[in-house]
Amino acid sequence: MLAVEGLTSAYGRIEVLHGVSLEVAEGEIIALVGANGAGKTTLLRAISGVQPISGGRVVFAGEAIEREPAHRRVAKGMAHVPEARQVFAPLSVHDNLRLGAYRRKDAGVAADLGRIYAMYPMLWERRRSAAGSLSGGEQQMLAIGRALMARPRLLLLDEPSMGLAPVLVDRIMETILALKAAGVTILLVEQNAVAALSIADRGYVIETGAIVHRGAGRDLLDDPKVRATYLGV
Ligand code: ATP
Repeated sequence: MLAVEGLTSAYGRIEVLHGVSLEVAEGEIIALVGANGAGKTTLLRAISGVQPISGGRVVFAGEAIEREPAHRRVAKGMAHVPEARQVFAPLSVHDNLRLGAYRRKDAGVAADLGRIYAMYPMLWERRRSAAGSLSGGEQQMLAIGRALMARPRLLLLDEPSMGLAPVLVDRIMETILALKAAGVTILLVEQNAVAALSIADRGYVIETGAIVHRGAGRDLLDDPKVRATYLGV
């Protein structure tokens, strides 16, 4: 579904992604883990088109899209849940969800809203509340729900566990597994490598802008080098 090939990206003159390649097959959960500042967010933003690249390719469903603006990538079936959730704080929960379907003109929007509310009853209860009044975990659910309103085939999730209590991290990981079961392909960026690799089919470890390990989620979790360096074990 997604192939990233030799991607480079820079802030000013400083290159922070040095030829990153990875692949995501349809139906997989892929975890991209690595330390603070390794380049995870930059890579995700480059894939969704909100971060300029200086070289390399992004192929989505067989089509090179690295020159497409972000909104066209959304229309092609890619949705990005940004780091720190970034919901529209003064708008209601309901309006945040409706904004996720901003580009859609099909008749299925109301039914999809119903599905999101059924999946997250807490969002239904709080549908008239300002999104900014929700707790961190609730805002994360809202940010995911908003992305799902675009009907993505591929969901890019940037550190959904950030700042959440362990019990909520577990809930988010369960949500991600449920999305996979519903047919969504997922690229999950996480500093919480144990949580992410535990649910991932495969994983990549990124270090200072380059992929340094790759493998099945379970194998990476069991790899002594990965454990020592990234999992603090
Ligand atoms: P984090 O978990 O902290 O988000 P990360 O792995 O997602 O880390 P990035 O945020 O992609 O890493 O950062 C990669 C590198 O790019 C870091 O060295 C960071 O300091 C640098 N960087 C990130 N954003 C900017 C920016 N807006 N301007 C300049 N440098 C940046």
